[in-house]
Amino acid sequence: MNLKKSLKLFLGFFLRWTGFPVEPTLLKIGNPTKESPVFVTCNFNLTVKRVLKALKDLDCYLLIAPSNGINVWCGACGDDFHTDSVLSIIKTSGIDDLVEHRTLILPQLSAPGMDPISIKKKSGWNVKFGPVYAKDIYSYVENQFNKSESQRIVRFPISKRLEMASLYFFLLFLLTSAVYWIVAIFLPILNLFLYLDTVLILIGLIYGPMLILPSITWKTGKLKIWIYEVIALSLIILFNLFIRFDLLYLIWNIVASLLISLIMAEDFHGLTPIFKSEIGAKIWKKGGDKMRFLFGEYKLQPYGQITLERDKCIGCKVCIEVCPRNLYAFNKDDDKVDLRNSEKCINCNACVKRCLAQCLEIK
Ligand code: SF4
Ligand code: SF4
Repeated sequence: MNLKKSLKLFLGFFLRWTGFPVEPTLLKIGNPTKESPVFVTCNFNLTVKRVLKALKDLDCYLLIAPSNGINVWCGACGDDFHTDSVLSIIKTSGIDDLVEHRTLILPQLSAPGMDPISIKKKSGWNVKFGPVYAKDIYSYVENQFNKSESQRIVRFPISKRLEMASLYFFLLFLLTSAVYWIVAIFLPILNLFLYLDTVLILIGLIYGPMLILPSITWKTGKLKIWIYEVIALSLIILFNLFIRFDLLYLIWNIVASLLISLIMAEDFHGLTPIFKSEIGAKIWKKGGDKMRFLFGEYKLQPYGQITLERDKCIGCKVCIEVCPRNLYAFNKDDDKVDLRNSEKCINCNACVKRCLAQCLEIK
């Protein structure tokens, strides 16, 4: 890999929040024929790289649809990767003339943003939702385009959490360093050792919560982060009060920790569709709806309860195909689905939007 490509990959990894687009286009992978599968992905640089790696042993087409350079799930939930993105790349790529079939394979996590019926109506193409992760595409194709249960589920293992932590660290490191050295011009008491202290605090307050996330009792969000940050801040204060005995370090560490904690906790909302703020839900349950005038609708919006009106279900199985938590099971006795462990729902809305009988709702 040459230097330019490495730099692009590096920036694509660390600047994914700001969007890092590649040109929407059609790519031929291997030696595709008129029967070859057609995959669709978003135009976020890093996703395209990962999908290309996953497709390298296949003969197929890849449509890179416009999503403002945002990744698939965030793009689909945030209205950057949607039906019109797919319609536009179908129209501009000339894929209609390259294959004889009319089936597009989209990433499963794009489901909240896509309307397959509208795509079919306006372009003639059917939509099939493939696996959650690009690395599973090959085995999905080998398995005659059928997803296994594990290929439908989103996970947040330690590797992914560390990846997220590194994104936070990179951005906050740049921001903190810039602020620190600008302030240091006017406050000469700030020195290199204090700066290193700040970097250590940054590492502790960012990587720590990400590592222990699953073991903190609260389900998700900023409350979890705050619990960790408050404990860490207390330890920092105790260390400065009883071991280092330095007022400057004490004050500086408190200011730096609070600022970093605030950014972490606030920004954690919406980090991924899995990790949303739960504090609003807690307040709501404790009667916080009466304080709506103070907090506004947004902050008090609780995690909704997913509900299924079973009588209306037509057994189309779309919810099974799109739910990243695997909460639906087909019941052969009456050809309808059952909703299980509904408390694990992350309100991604994919099933609600895709249900053909409109029998799902988040209340
Ligand atoms: S049940 Fe919840 S997690 Fe599953 S698709 Fe529906 S909204 Fe998303
Ligand atoms: S998507 Fe709706 S109609 Fe289809 S199986 Fe699920 S609940 Fe039933």
